[in-house]
Amino acid sequence: MVSQGDLFKQDDKKDLSFVPSDVWERLSHSKFRRKFHLNSSDRQYLQEKGLPVILEHGADFIAKRLAPAQPVRDGRQTPWKGHPVFVAQHATATCCRSCLEKWHHFPKGQSLTSAQQTYVLSVLAGWLEKEMSFSETGECNAGFEPSSEKEDIKKKDVKKA
Ligand SMILES: [Zn+2]
Repeated sequence: MVSQGDLFKQDDKKDLSFVPSDVWERLSHSKFRRKFHLNSSDRQYLQEKGLPVILEHGADFIAKRLAPAQPVRDGRQTPWKGHPVFVAQHATATCCRSCLEKWHHFPKGQSLTSAQQTYVLSVLAGWLEKEMSFSETGECNAGFEPSSEKEDIKKKDVKKA
């Protein structure tokens, strides 16, 4: 039998975008998860630091607050705001071990493997990238529709020609 950890190892190398599409699908159907968005100071912070640095913070939060078999204050360890990763965690149901078990099928009471921690980080990276690709005042990104950027480029090209 192949365990989930083994599966992830193969995709683990550099590909942080490895998250099954059904995860995004299920999250996009949750009214509760869908209402989380970065506010302007989160966006500013993310832009200043850059995604790789923010994800380093994320890896640290995951290792300290989620990965232990019995995390301290489990269920309340992730603040509602104050860091883009916290918001991403609530939006993606990676905020505590109960949510991780319910949404991502990582059993409670066991420490997370490094492959599982990488997976959580991939989920956070995917959400943050999607969130940042939408304008601050723009439409809600429910369903993560692809942007119409390509169409705009086409229109511009037509004008030039
Ligand atoms: Zn939770």
